[in-house]
Order: sequence, then C-alpha cells, then structure tokens
Amino acid sequence: MTLETNCLFCKFITGEIPVDLIRNTSELIAFRDIAPQAPTHILLVPKIHVENGAELAAAAPLTLAALHSAAAELAAAAQLDGYRLVFNTGASAGQSVFHAHLHLLGGRSFAWPPG
Ligand code: AMP
Repeated sequence: MTLETNCLFCKFITGEIPVDLIRNTSELIAFRDIAPQAPTHILLVPKIHVENGAELAAAAPLTLAALHSAAAELAAAAQLDGYRLVFNTGASAGQSVFHAHLHLLGGRSFAWPPG
C-alpha cells in the first residue's frame, strides 16, 4: 500500500483522520461526501495513492474494477434506479483532491450534458 503523508484521503485510509466508513476492504474505502451534490453521494477511494482514475487503471486495474463493483453494490443497497459515476480528472474538470476517487451520485435526476 503506497500512501502520501500530506494526502487527506490517505489519512482517512490510515485512520489518522476519522471518517465514517460505509465500506472498508483490502482494496478500497467508501464514505459519504462532506458536501453532497445529490441525495446519495458516496466517494470510493482506492487504498493505493495514485492521482486519478487513469493512473489507477495503469497501476491497479483490478482495483479500478473493484471500485466500480462496490459502487454498483452500494447503489443497489440504496435502491437507486439510476446513478452516475464520475472521476473528475484535473483541476479544470473540478478535481480538488488528488488521490483517485470515484463519485457515486444518485437519488435525483441528472442533466446531460453535465455542467
Ligand atoms: P473532487 O472535487 O472530484 O476532487 O472530489 C473531492 C470530494 O471530496 C469533494 O466532493 C469534496 O466535497 C469531498 N471532500 C473533501 N473533504 C472531505 C471530507 N473531509 N469528508 C468527506 N468528503 C470530503
């Protein structure tokens, strides 16, 4: 497990900063977003420190798959009839935490194209 000392999500993974975990496996954690953009807004975070989804795909493709599977399970548990999965990648796309994370959003209708 590669972690960074100055990374918020790494501190969640180590427990240095407490967070209510919805899921905690050997590969990932999941918790509710502090500023939810939908009635269900969960972040799925790999335990390997990489900057974004593309880096995760290159470094640990099975963990990328595990994030998607976990998101589907959490969406089913929340009885969502549809949901949106997002990797914001780069500041211009809205990324603010540079430890890869998959947003699971649901519980309302979503527009397309996204804003
Ligand atoms: P992004 O902007 O795609 O990098 O997503 C980062 C997400 O982390 C944002 O949606 C934030 O609201 C969320 N976030 C930041 N700090 C916390 C925290 N302490 N607990 C839960 N979510 C957080």
